[in-house]
Parts: sequence; C-alpha cells; structure tokens
Amino acid sequence: MSQPILGMELSEIREVLGPGQAPFRAKQVYKALYRQKVGDLVQISTLPAGLRAELAASHEVGMPCVEKRYESVDGTLRYLLRLHDGKTVETVLMPEEGRDTVCISSQVGCPVDCRFCMTALMGLERNLTAGEIVGQVLYVARENGLLDGAAKFNIVMMGMGEPLLNLPNVLKATRLLADPEGAAISEKRITLSTSGIIPKMEEMGRAAVRPKLAISLNASTEEMRQQLMPITRKYHLRDLIEACRAYPVRVWEKLTFEYVLLGGVNDSDADARRVVGLLGNLDCMVNLIALNPGPGIDFQTPSPERVDSFQTIVRRSLPCFVRKPRGRDIFAACGQLKRNTA
Ligand code: SAH
Ligand code: SF4
Repeated sequence: MSQPILGMELSEIREVLGPGQAPFRAKQVYKALYRQKVGDLVQISTLPAGLRAELAASHEVGMPCVEKRYESVDGTLRYLLRLHDGKTVETVLMPEEGRDTVCISSQVGCPVDCRFCMTALMGLERNLTAGEIVGQVLYVARENGLLDGAAKFNIVMMGMGEPLLNLPNVLKATRLLADPEGAAISEKRITLSTSGIIPKMEEMGRAAVRPKLAISLNASTEEMRQQLMPITRKYHLRDLIEACRAYPVRVWEKLTFEYVLLGGVNDSDADARRVVGLLGNLDCMVNLIALNPGPGIDFQTPSPERVDSFQTIVRRSLPCFVRKPRGRDIFAACGQLKRNTA
C-alpha cells in the first residue's frame, strides 16, 4: 500500500527520496505539500518525471477526501473528511470579516466522557497521524482559497478528540503548520483546547514550538466537575489550577479557560463568583459557551439573561467573552461533532 508523505518533516522526505537525490529535491516536495497544498504527486511539477514516477510507485500525498460538506446559514462550513482507512473526521471552517478560523480534530472520536459532548458518545476509534491533522488544514485552505490572501488565519484544535491524548502527533503537526518554509501559520495563531490532562500539559509546556493553551474548566467546584467530566476524578481541579499557575506562558500568550454553561447546573451567579475565586490570580481570560444541544445530551441551554448575568460577574475581575454559536443548524458547533450525516 502507498505510504502517505503528508506529515513528514524535511529530513524524512529526504530519506524517502534516497541518498542519490540532491537535497533541494526534498525541499521541492516539502514546499509542494505544505505551501502549494498539492493533492497528488503528479502536481509536483518541479520534480523530473522519472523521480515523480518512482516516488508514486511507493507513496502518495495522503490528503483527506471530502465525503460531505454542509453549509450553515451563518456561513460556517462543516466537512466530513475521509481518511485512508475509510474512517471520517470533522473539520469546521468559520469565515469572518478579515479572519478565518479552522477547527480541526485530533482523534477519531474521543476517549474522554464529558456528559455534555456529542463526540463523547462515539468513544475513541483511533488517534490521527500528524499528516491527518495537517491535512485537514491544508484541505480546507485549498478548497476555499485561504492562506494566500490578506485575511488572518487561525487554527483551533477544538474539534473531535482530546488533543493532549495524542500529543506527539499534535506537536509534530504544529511544527509543520508553523514552519515558515511551509504553511507558515504562526504558533501564535494556533490554539489547543484540553479537558485538563495535567501531565500532558506539563509536557506540552516543554515543547519549543507549541500551540497556545486553552483549558475546559466547565465547573466551579471539584464535585460538579467530576460529575460533568468523569476524567477529572483523576486530574483534580486544585492540581489543574496549580499546573496552570506553573505553565510557561510566553510573553504574547494568555491562558484561556472555556466554560460550558448548562442551564440550572453550573450557570448560577454563585458559580460565576467561584470561577473568579479559582482564576482570579491567573493572567487569563474566560470564554463562556452556552450549551449547544443535540440528541443524547441531557442538558438545557441557559437563557440569554442567565449567560449575561454570569458574564457580568466574571467580567468584573477577568476578561470574559461569550462564544458565538457557529453552525448549530448543521451540527458544527462546539460539542456537536459526531460525524452527523443528517
Ligand atoms: N477535547 C477538547 C477540545 C474539544 S471540545 C476539550 O474538551 O477541551 C471544545 C470545547 O467544546 C470544550 O471547551 C468543551 O467543553 C466544549 N463543549 C463540548 N460539548 C459542548 C456542547 N454540547 N456545547 C457547548 N460546548 C461544548
Ligand atoms: Fe472529548 Fe472535549 Fe468532548 Fe470532552 S468535551 S468528550 S474532552 S471532545
């Protein structure tokens, strides 16, 4: 079976081409993949035909194929992308005036069982490779003519999966995406969101090239957090806050905490005050997400007044924003990704 080249670093491509080839050949392949976003080796026109044919005998680019594309009334696009083994993942593009954001997946499904998330219902099928993570970005950018224009381009690793449970591939993908010789998307424009896998946060903090860190807080007490996110029975709230305090934020970086508001469960004024108590001493900001509903999810979306009241309290102490729901009508919003083909 053909091996995918997407996801390889320059040194790996050099190895594939063999010692007989001039080093610039590997660079040509690298640029064609990550800058020109070619989907087929035939499109690498800088390579001599013989070498291209030789490469094609054993390798392929390895871009994902689109299985379905859904368009929301608000302009959000949700792609169901098929991987080489037939499994599918979801990638979402949220175009905005002067800024495009791509939300990518890091796993097929998710092994973390957050009670409010539709991806959790799938369980984990497998980790994505670095090439499959990068491929989502390149595919969506190519299809929509992005990355070459004036618009800013952001990547959020907030699709299917818990990225810190696939850290080596996520970090390799980040290095490839951030490389100025390739896709050249600055690490300042890449954000990873985690449910709070503490030892992996520490590991990520040691990586030279790494995304910005966002943490899903989602509750104001240990008990509630353990109910909503059973994995946190292992990774305690107090330790999480300590790990955040110790986290090596870069001068241009600010930690983000996400908080899913579940009507009547974790959205009271007292919850808001406790959130301030937990985070008040950290240099951070808070993103509130009103629950995006879906089949199999037994929670209510809070009223806009409740969301306002919560935000008003947190805002007295910390920057606090309410995340606009994008693409709810096509099941593209936070927590709704479940390969929904309806
Ligand atoms: N696994 C990572 C990243 C993907 S989830 C994480 O949990 O952080 C991205 C965000 O969507 C998280 O903050 C999560 O708490 C939130 N989320 C999950 N289900 C949701 C839902 N039904 N409505 C709104 N937000 C949800
Ligand atoms: Fe996984 Fe994040 Fe969903 Fe939790 S919220 S189940 S960690 S994708």
